[in-house]
Amino acid sequence: NKGVILKQFVTGVPTEDDLELVTAVVRLAVPPGSASVMVKNLYVSCDPYMRNRMSEHNEASYIEQFVPGEVLATFSVGRVVASGHPNFKSGDLVWGMSGCEEYTLITDPESLFKINHPELPLSYYTGVLGMPGLTAYAGFFDVSKPKKGDYVFVSSASGAVGQLVGQLAKITGCYVVGSAGSDEKVNLLKTKFGFDDAFNYKKEEDLNAALKRCFPRGIDIYFENVGGAMLAAVLPNMRMNGRIAVCGMISQYNLEQPNGAPNLFCLVAKRIRMEGFMVLDYFGTYNKFEEEIAGYLKEGKITVVEDVAEGIENVSAALIGLFSGRNIGKQLVTIARE
Ligand code: NDP
Repeated sequence: NKGVILKQFVTGVPTEDDLELVTAVVRLAVPPGSASVMVKNLYVSCDPYMRNRMSEHNEASYIEQFVPGEVLATFSVGRVVASGHPNFKSGDLVWGMSGCEEYTLITDPESLFKINHPELPLSYYTGVLGMPGLTAYAGFFDVSKPKKGDYVFVSSASGAVGQLVGQLAKITGCYVVGSAGSDEKVNLLKTKFGFDDAFNYKKEEDLNAALKRCFPRGIDIYFENVGGAMLAAVLPNMRMNGRIAVCGMISQYNLEQPNGAPNLFCLVAKRIRMEGFMVLDYFGTYNKFEEEIAGYLKEGKITVVEDVAEGIENVSAALIGLFSGRNIGKQLVTIARE
């Protein structure tokens, strides 16, 4: 059983030296009398929050740190190969918290979701039909409370979460602009995902001016994925009674000292509601979300771009690549063909 372990706690940007591919022997069975499930991982997900689990200390953490020497936990799509649990049988397709390895013994199988639409690409359950998709859906509809005609700005807009937020905003009748870190990504936003406008934040000398150009009348909803300088530039461009759904702040994850949050007084002056949220709190609503998004996918109302790496040996590079923007779309790794 090949798997990727954390070699040591990480400071700064993670590198390949922090992770290691190891091989262990595994019995493809569940321990006698246990209600566990053995899953063969087909696709594993690479997600920015995993960086937070690699730090030794993280005051803002909501989830346990990884343990050096142990295989990294991650969301996966897999097939049950052995089960001691009455709700699962060999052959079932599932997604949920698993490991960056070929086979994982899931000791709490009730945390797994059955895959109800195997006619759609299974890899979608790491992205648009999985945790990032639910994040986009919950953060946009429940936290941002969009209305038709709202002006919506999404950062890291071509990524797993951002690409769905933008498309949900268009379905809702909003005006949507996205930012991303390359011209290729900007082009995707405009041509593939239907954003009304987009800009490459790395090429803008003045983010405030870029936002003023895209939103001469201001922003009603900011879907925050990056934090730092972008958040500082967004705040003065918000409209009265605007909403900021704070999904993530990837620009801060590799910093020992977060680089501040100027302009916060705009929250007061403009009566802005800025609210953080966590996808874990929405897992109970998953089935409704899955049905709605599967419907949009089948009708062709939602498009998906994935960045698929091949093989367990490429997990480390794929994961690290998230922090330089190497991925174009949802980053996942194929571990096995079915
Ligand atoms: P993405 O697919 O968007 O991949 C990460 C992207 O972040 C990179 O491709 C890069 O895009 C951008 N990025 C990397 N470093 C920086 C930086 N220093 N400054 C600005 N942008 C940077 O990831 P996801 O869609 O999976 O996640 C998006 C956000 O959502 C993250 O902040 C994540 O932590 C958060 N999240 C929150 C959840 C919750 O429950 N609240 C659940 C899931 C995700 P580019 O080339 O455009 O710079």
